[in-house]
Amino acid sequence: MSSYQDDEEGVGFDGNPSSFPKDFGYGFDGENDVSLSTGEHKPRILLMGLRRSGKSSIQKVVFHKMSPNETLFLESTNKIVKDDINNSSFVQFQIWDFPGQIDFIDSTFDSDTIFGGCGALVFVIDAQDDYGDALDKLNLTVTKAFKVNHNIKFEVFIHKVDGLGDDFKMESQRDIHQRATDDLNDAGFDQIHLSFHLTSIYDHSIFEAFSKVVQKLIPQLPILENLLNILNTNSAIEKSFLFDVVSKIYIATDSTPVDMQSYELCCDMIDVVIDVSWIYGIRDEQLEATAFDEQSSSLIKLNNGTVLYLREVNRFLALVCILREDNFDHKGIIDSNFVSLREAIQQVFELRNKSQSVMLTSPGSPMTNGSDAITPEHHSS
Ligand code: GDP
Repeated sequence: MSSYQDDEEGVGFDGNPSSFPKDFGYGFDGENDVSLSTGEHKPRILLMGLRRSGKSSIQKVVFHKMSPNETLFLESTNKIVKDDINNSSFVQFQIWDFPGQIDFIDSTFDSDTIFGGCGALVFVIDAQDDYGDALDKLNLTVTKAFKVNHNIKFEVFIHKVDGLGDDFKMESQRDIHQRATDDLNDAGFDQIHLSFHLTSIYDHSIFEAFSKVVQKLIPQLPILENLLNILNTNSAIEKSFLFDVVSKIYIATDSTPVDMQSYELCCDMIDVVIDVSWIYGIRDEQLEATAFDEQSSSLIKLNNGTVLYLREVNRFLALVCILREDNFDHKGIIDSNFVSLREAIQQVFELRNKSQSVMLTSPGSPMTNGSDAITPEHHSS
């Protein structure tokens, strides 16, 4: 595989190399920043589950580039609630531990605040352990959250499946699915829908599962998908992903099926770009450190005649395309189409921000509890 960096001017950051910089974008993200990159209405995800189910590991691997083996040495935290909102990601993310003594009946547990603004609740179940207790806690959590906020998407991660054989994996999924839905039906909550994902931090399944979760929280998904379809058709691109750079979650892709290998290649490319930027980028003490900025772009040629092409879209997002090397002869056209795509994406998010500020400022506006439920807007692409 030969590779080279094109126009790569990422600036390094000071801090722990194993994690991303605090602000990895274009410097200060002021509270009044109402640009496309504003973080005020990012999808908010709660990660819950029993202690040792793998929550901290998921968070470290997905958002802090920790290698899966290192998670073996993660100390179990005694904190009841552990917050981690990553401001450099398109996604806001919080972790809640259930160390056992925490109880929803406890008056200090403010479920209105906790579940009110949450878009998705991810419940992690350790599939390598006896999951009876976890299913009880899942039922309790989901019913409580649903009472507060009907708009929450409930996602169950059947986690640590790397240690299970294929048959056992499918059997566990079937059993957990059956028991969890039966418990909900028995409790009279048959309207609650649970989605299940088999995950492990030792492969890309955890990123893939998170991508699915995040995509459900993006009302603009069909528009983004359509824009990527148009880009592909007009630029002879085979596959394109819109990535949240920090987490390597893809927030949208075109409508052709996702092949895991292509996704993994694109993830690896993002790692390469960030690492190279971080190591060789120009460090400017005056400016906020950035490893990914508007100059970021990269091209990797594979020895099977395929090209991976990455371009920066905004401070959180990158477009990664896969195309035949022959078709890359028209780089000018691709770049020009990319500029149009970037503008269109900008408009989509600007519209979202506008509609949100209208909702927030107009008195008596029908704000739902789920602040991630955004009024649909129309955008002709
Ligand atoms: P938490 O208490 O829910 O935050 O759990 P931790 O993140 O501390 O994880 C508990 C243990 O599970 C650690 O030793 C991790 O290495 C391990 N672990 C986490 N995810 C996986 C996974 O996908 N597969 C396997 N085999 N082990 C995992």
